[in-house]
Amino acid sequence: MILALKSGRLSAQDWIEAFAAKMPELEVRVWPDCGDRAEVDVLFTTRIPKGEVASFPNLKFVALVAAGADRFLADPDIPAHLPIVRAYNPEQALTMKAWVVYQVIRHHREMPQYEADQKAHRWDRRPVLQPRFVRVGVMGLGQLGGAAARSLADLGYDVAGWSRGGRGIEGVDDFIGPDGLMAFLARTEILIGILPFTRETDRLLDGPAFAALPKGAYVINCGRGELIVEKDLLAALDSGHLSGAALDVFRQEPLPADHVFWDHPKITVTPHNSSTSSAWGAVDIVIENIRRYQNGEPLRATIDRQAGY
Ligand code: NDP
Repeated sequence: MILALKSGRLSAQDWIEAFAAKMPELEVRVWPDCGDRAEVDVLFTTRIPKGEVASFPNLKFVALVAAGADRFLADPDIPAHLPIVRAYNPEQALTMKAWVVYQVIRHHREMPQYEADQKAHRWDRRPVLQPRFVRVGVMGLGQLGGAAARSLADLGYDVAGWSRGGRGIEGVDDFIGPDGLMAFLARTEILIGILPFTRETDRLLDGPAFAALPKGAYVINCGRGELIVEKDLLAALDSGHLSGAALDVFRQEPLPADHVFWDHPKITVTPHNSSTSSAWGAVDIVIENIRRYQNGEPLRATIDRQAGY
């Protein structure tokens, strides 16, 4: 089997070493110098110029290097029959849930205020609300959102999740689809977005959605920036309806240097870094699917092109 690699954040060498260690018989060619493209069986990429996928005529599947199929699926020339395997890697869930739990605790336990108190040499023991009285809502209960919701439930928070079909995670109340959205928002004091960017999730968190959250609610977003209507978020923060936001993803990335989010006193910004993974962990799903293909078994962790994730 021959795999053509177009790496993203990690160097091509990282991937080559991980594949060589775990599947030495796999030939890896680095895009764009892939030799005869008709020989390539698997394309491993996320961001590749439009039209490039169609230039490999005999692909068995495409495997995504990074999570989130939205940017890849924007190419209209991708053959309709071509299976797309998502980035699926336990490391990603591990790092994402740690970032989410950190942001929840930082807000719930008033860490910015205690840091200010320390600077002022002020000893002020404020009462701590027990986690079971803090209602957290996770939008998206997949690989990443599901892991975060489980961890928060384990920490004792009152956790609900919103998804298309419900996931039945122990300790997490399911709210389902558009019909369940307003009730989900109305009960949620700390809202966490870990949704893919699709037609349905684009601009989902707008003025009416923020207004449905209880006064003082806090918003965390680490799925895709397109979820949020930025001017509506700013209005809800500035009116005092929302108490703050921690944002890892943005409509425009990198976040422009003159963007108002950088200096906003109620907004915490991280540079799309909430979840990371190594080549060592990320090649497993690709190798598993190559073996499945060779054995005539159905591929695992494929994207539903219709749903967009
Ligand atoms: P999954 O595909 O595993 O899960 C997606 C979840 O979103 C599912 O629970 C799904 O519902 C739900 N969902 C999708 N569309 C809707 C909708 N219209 N209404 C309600 N629920 C919906 O994705 P992951 O957990 O792996 O990742 C989520 C997103 O996080 C990725 O798509 C990517 O964009 C982003 N991401 C961000 C990173 C970062 O560093 N900031 C890193 C990696 C990913 P159901 O359960 O019913 O299918």
